[in-house]
Amino acid sequence: MGETLGNGALAGFFDSCGVVLFDSAMGTALISAGLPPGTDSAEMNALAPDVVRGVHLDNIRAGCDVITTNTFGVTGILLRGGDEGAALALEAGVRLAREAAAAGQRINVGAGGGTDGGRVLVALGIGPAGSIVGPLGDISYESATKAYALQAGAGAREGADFMLFETFADLDELMCAARAARAVCDLPIIATMTFDAGGHTYMGVTPADFAQAVMAENAVSCGAEPLFFAIGANCALTPDEMPPIIDALTENARGALRIIAQPNNADSPDAFLPGIETLLGLGVSAVGGCCGTTPEMIAEVRAIIDSGQTERKEPRL
Ligand SMILES: [Zn+2]
Repeated sequence: MGETLGNGALAGFFDSCGVVLFDSAMGTALISAGLPPGTDSAEMNALAPDVVRGVHLDNIRAGCDVITTNTFGVTGILLRGGDEGAALALEAGVRLAREAAAAGQRINVGAGGGTDGGRVLVALGIGPAGSIVGPLGDISYESATKAYALQAGAGAREGADFMLFETFADLDELMCAARAARAVCDLPIIATMTFDAGGHTYMGVTPADFAQAVMAENAVSCGAEPLFFAIGANCALTPDEMPPIIDALTENARGALRIIAQPNNADSPDAFLPGIETLLGLGVSAVGGCCGTTPEMIAEVRAIIDSGQTERKEPRL
């Protein structure tokens, strides 16, 4: 396990990159590699480590700055009582990403790819419970807190650089997850929620609700590190559908939070890159791909970022 990055060091990494490029969808790659039906994608870390490591390496060769561990499904596995399988999937998931990131440094250095001297960071991917959490739901806050704390603690021990809570729909669950994680480790937290084209998560949360709640949470950190480093949107929307969401997040974050966009693939092959250019023009600090995106698309986004020709507002931070 290496030295842990704090919010300050992660900010330095973001600044050195200009725009941080995240990776493409792991689930999509595993399905094309023959993910067995009924298997959670996170279980592939133990079942087919070479495949998972290979997807990370493909993304690093494509020039991404951050790879996300294949651990999205671990929350669900834990909450279904599969503690042993979840621990195995999580530890193997971080290890595979770390191995790929270490190899990736050698690929990028001197090859003109990557940024920050070819350094690739590892984000610990953490997904939602998949059921409603709380007194009216199937899962108690107590069980959820335990599951999130376990993931954060194990991720930090295995050497993840920061946590990426993604695809959340319920703000209360996200806050529960982030507080539980921070109680057991100091890794910076980036959180993204999934909105529909009407500007709501399926639990009815708007981007303004999300940004305002995070701002309020950060404001009460009382001298300690703010709980959230960055916020954003991922999944469900294509790049050309995401700008109103990004605008609303940016407006409500009032220059105090970096904004990240990880859209799905566009419906037409010609629409993805122009949509990404639009998002870059809005001043996002990081982009990447969610469902349906590939390392080839990440390479094309790398070329756009490196060309420096996208008309973008200065990042707010
Ligand atoms: Zn997705």
